[in-house]
Amino acid sequence: MTSSSPNPDTATPPDWTRLQQALAVEADRGFNNLQGKQYRFHEFLSLSLHQIPADVPTGDYDRWQRLAQRFREYPDLSYGDRRHLVAETRQTLPRTRLSYEAPPEPSPTKAVPTAPRTAPLIAPTHHTAIIPHLDLPLSKLNGVGPRSAQNLAKLNLLTVQDLLYYYPRDYIDYARQVNIRDLEEGSTVTVVGSVKRFNCFTSPKNKKLTIFELVLRDRSGEVKLSRFFAGTRYSNRGWQESQKRIYAPGTTVAASGLVKLSTYGPSCKTLQDPELEVLDRSNSPIESLNIGRVLPVYSLTEGVGSDTLRRSVIAALPATQQLTDPLPPSLREQYDLLPLPQAISQIHFPDDGDQLALARCRLVFDEFFYLQLGMLRRRQRQRQEQTQIQLAPTGELLDRFYQLLPFALTQAQQRVIKDILNDLQQPSPMNRLVQGDVGSGKTVVAVVALVAAIQAGYQGALMAPTEVLAEQHYRKLVDWFTLLHLPVELLTGSTKAAKRRTIHNQLATGELPLLVGTHALIQEAVTFNRLGLAVIDEQHRFGVQQRALLQQKGNNPHVLTMTATPIPRTLALTLHGDLEVSQIDELPPGRQAIQTTVLQGRDRPHAYTLIRREVAQGRQVYVVLPLVEESEKLDLKSAIEEQAHLQTKIFPEFTVGLLHGRMTSAEKDRAITAFRDGETAILVSTTVVEVGVDVPNATVMLIEEADRFGLAQLHQLRGRVGRGAAQSYCLLINNKKGDIASQRLKVMEQSQDGFFISEMDMRFRGPGEVLGTRQSGLPDFALASLVNDQDVLYMARQAAEDLMAQDPQLQDWPDLRETLAYRYQRLMGGSILT
Ligand code: ADP
Ligand code: MG
Repeated sequence: MTSSSPNPDTATPPDWTRLQQALAVEADRGFNNLQGKQYRFHEFLSLSLHQIPADVPTGDYDRWQRLAQRFREYPDLSYGDRRHLVAETRQTLPRTRLSYEAPPEPSPTKAVPTAPRTAPLIAPTHHTAIIPHLDLPLSKLNGVGPRSAQNLAKLNLLTVQDLLYYYPRDYIDYARQVNIRDLEEGSTVTVVGSVKRFNCFTSPKNKKLTIFELVLRDRSGEVKLSRFFAGTRYSNRGWQESQKRIYAPGTTVAASGLVKLSTYGPSCKTLQDPELEVLDRSNSPIESLNIGRVLPVYSLTEGVGSDTLRRSVIAALPATQQLTDPLPPSLREQYDLLPLPQAISQIHFPDDGDQLALARCRLVFDEFFYLQLGMLRRRQRQRQEQTQIQLAPTGELLDRFYQLLPFALTQAQQRVIKDILNDLQQPSPMNRLVQGDVGSGKTVVAVVALVAAIQAGYQGALMAPTEVLAEQHYRKLVDWFTLLHLPVELLTGSTKAAKRRTIHNQLATGELPLLVGTHALIQEAVTFNRLGLAVIDEQHRFGVQQRALLQQKGNNPHVLTMTATPIPRTLALTLHGDLEVSQIDELPPGRQAIQTTVLQGRDRPHAYTLIRREVAQGRQVYVVLPLVEESEKLDLKSAIEEQAHLQTKIFPEFTVGLLHGRMTSAEKDRAITAFRDGETAILVSTTVVEVGVDVPNATVMLIEEADRFGLAQLHQLRGRVGRGAAQSYCLLINNKKGDIASQRLKVMEQSQDGFFISEMDMRFRGPGEVLGTRQSGLPDFALASLVNDQDVLYMARQAAEDLMAQDPQLQDWPDLRETLAYRYQRLMGGSILT
């Protein structure tokens, strides 16, 4: 319990049911912080959570206070963070409610109502002698005891079921035990030896890094192992001393991991980030069982050691008998999946490596499957929504537009246009994402759809994330629309008040058929007369809320979103599995491949020679830097200094412009216009140019500190050149030593294919990084990896599609429906589907 005292005027617990409803509704409506009768969602939540009494039996008071505080900040959170917060609260709430409502001492036994067999939210307390009930609190589980139960609660483990689903994060495989002398690079093995030397100390170079060095010896030889711990918790003297006691010389230790060459010497081998297990410290029965088995390694916390966890899991395992498998048996057979009880047992204490692989496959399948099924059901519901806006795919205006296009559409563009025009005829609103590499010609595809809407007497809106991009779209549209004798206007933050008023008026009367702009489009004052289609460019730069706001400017209008950041198919399925997705996977003809070269800093003069040659031929050049201002820590060049340097020292004979994020939009505008008009030959810029600047005369893209960028971002930047007919160049300056950095950059030399590049980026840096961590919106998988489990993902998607085709309401599978509601909500914080 904590020392903080409960608020005196909140002695009564909150209305649990209302709380749960509020959370469910918020998730259902897309985390828009709904306005209730009295409060907004976040106000209601933080008030209610505050009321949770300090004597909640699980001792969760602190956590609830923390959550209440976070809800106060809810309006400022990103979509992903909102979703996480809501999901976390929805997961935790039933437990607190349960423990609050069920007194900690055994209550007089009543008839026990049958609990839902899968994933119950509220469950009765129950005792059984041998097979523990899934919902049994851990304090009542044989061999766990109240102290351990309290500690386990810190890991959010409160019931037997929680333990069963607390998967190991790794294993020590004693079946793969080898002699130290026989270590072979690339294999995953376990060695058992005695500690010869041990040391644990804070890195002299980095105070936050703790180094842990262990020399193990067996009869055949010795091996030096290292681990690194980041965080002040480990640089703590006490922690380090405790490690020294644990790994005292002579102690028998098992170490498990991937064998690699060590940096200590050419022929030295070591284990990469090894799992360690002290073997002879205790005589616990579990550990004597160990040898010859695959042993689970769990994430631990203060007061919960691996012994406690393993013992508790072993006590809980018989309860797997009560797990029913919600998957239809035919589906399980088709995909060779283990039954759920067996998979859960084997994931904790596998008989051998093969069983472990099968168990893991089944559970990974489940994680993907419920997500895909949930998204497919959401899509199905969207399709059932009605719209009055049905647009004809042909007509005079469209014909005229096609005629005035100065080029022939690519096959890919034609295919995607067909998809879109088909959507627009349906009685339900379109919700389609168009993915296409930089320069693949997405704009014209969107314009065809807009023309179709205008032709039918509706209005269109095109929203872009930056003024630069909005303006560029506007210019192109003015060219085309003037020939069609149609007005189009631009609305951004810098539109003058008088102009803005005119635009607002013309929109409201319906006089203005098409409006292009930035976030300014979703301001309150903007009302459309008959919005038929909303197009959102670079959709990943907008939050869900902003997209929804644009949509709400009409009466169930069609929505087309576009992105130039190709993402691997696994990510697309995981993020947009509920959208219709079209890909423009072909560039307009006549584009030459951009010649890409990775250079070291000392090669910069070569780059300057190339630049000089290109500018002399009348071409233009981008020089891109990662940051605006010099940061001592990162020692990055600032754009301002670089511009001065290039202008005075390197290219005094040319004009060097500057563009960065801290400039006002008028200043940015001037810089871009000057570059577009050829007044500046070289534009030094931060990543502002990443989004859509289109200057066909630019042929060189020089990127400083390229190693600091993700590949997907480099690809975007590179797409700024190669827009005209001339040969273009991309020069990547790599400042990092080391293989990984240069291997990663080499991908850019090898490929111009955005999908391939993003796939590689994901392999090098992980899915979260590819998307940009903050707004990634990826679900938290317990086991599944989007990099390593692609096959299982495709399998799960297929299975979900098949099942939806056969039984869209899941009528024959009530267990599955129930589990889906629970699991999908847990993964996505998304809507409950029942
Ligand atoms: P992005 O997909 O990056 O938004 P844009 O729509 O800006 O690409 O198109 C890039 C350039 O290619 C524009 O100048 C556009 O007019 C031109 N373009 C688009 N489609 C074709 C085509 N089929 N043939 C030739 N040029 C095209
Ligand atoms: Mg574009």
